[in-house]
Amino acid sequence: MLNYKLLTPGPLTTTDSVKEKMMVDHCTWDDDYKKITLSICDKLLNLAKVEKPEYTVVLMQGSGTFGVESVITSVVGKDEALLIISNGAYGERMADIAEHAGISYILYKEPYNNQPSATKVEEILKENPQITHISMVHNETTSGVLNDIEKIGQIAKKMNKTFIVDAMSSFGGMDIPVKDLGIDFIISSANKCIQGVPGFSFIICKTDKLLESEGKARSLSLDLYDQWKTMSKDGKWRFTSPTHVVLAFWQALKELEEEGGIQARAKRYEENNKYLIDTMKEMGFKPFIEGNLQGPIITTFYYPEGVECEFSEMYNYIKERGYAIYPGKLTDANTFRVGNIGEIYIDDMKKLCNIIKEYMEGKRKNEI
Ligand SMILES: *Cc1c(COP(=O)(O)O)cnc(C)c1O
Repeated sequence: MLNYKLLTPGPLTTTDSVKEKMMVDHCTWDDDYKKITLSICDKLLNLAKVEKPEYTVVLMQGSGTFGVESVITSVVGKDEALLIISNGAYGERMADIAEHAGISYILYKEPYNNQPSATKVEEILKENPQITHISMVHNETTSGVLNDIEKIGQIAKKMNKTFIVDAMSSFGGMDIPVKDLGIDFIISSANKCIQGVPGFSFIICKTDKLLESEGKARSLSLDLYDQWKTMSKDGKWRFTSPTHVVLAFWQALKELEEEGGIQARAKRYEENNKYLIDTMKEMGFKPFIEGNLQGPIITTFYYPEGVECEFSEMYNYIKERGYAIYPGKLTDANTFRVGNIGEIYIDDMKKLCNIIKEYMEGKRKNEI
């Protein structure tokens, strides 16, 4: 079996000790298991720098999108409206979710290489007083651009709107003080910066806002309030729990603590990201996102000018040498992406850059 490391933003490369935790078939209804679930919830509150009872946690089966869909379809009521701020595919997915559920929404779109503007958001809110909720993505994994949730959070607070943030690819890998940022619902998943395996998402919510959502959900299995009501009692999942994933996640949280918490992990990711970008630039690969708008999680690169590159060929070349990169997700430019999160270190970035260098030399000499 070919073994390679993932330079994709989830699923990502996990440690052997996280994977080993999945060798147990755990019972779901006994106290041991319920305690693990409750302990995970407590640890997530700590990572978000919030406390009970003001904030609470819901774990939701499924990938990250299930978490986003759960929040949007459970908390925006029939006579309420959502402003969706988008500068990438994940923002657009929120609009898709609202469309499917028949939720009233307004979509404010920016080009993929721009940050949404707080001034523009304020204008839209003034022109559309029917808006009750705002949702946006923190780190847009589509391009790697980092959005300013602080500024928009301030506006949401000032104008008394519920603020929903998809921090799927940043939570655990960047410091996000949820309360200080005025966030009411923040969503992430097991297989991103906490470095677990895929299988569930988690939502940290302002408790009063969650309680207000009772009875609003359009879906049975994604009903955020009902999921919380069962889980918050004693840690029992409402429907079959992804037991192996939960055990792996619990271990991943322990390893995050051992690494030195979010601060240490963020530093490692930033160093990986900086090394990658600096070295790729030297080799003639221009990043799609400019300067300080670039987040520390994933980077989109253009191919160097004058070299005909095809993604699948480059992908296979790199994969055979131990790493999996990611295709671009832009509709109008030929790009590829490299993630630098997961159990990935500077040494991996160095190895990757050397492989790409070799590949480009081969291309230039027409050997590949
Ligand atoms: C990964 C990700 C998601 C969720 O995607 P899934 O494929 O459902 O796990 C949502 N938003 C962002 C920003 C992401 O990076």
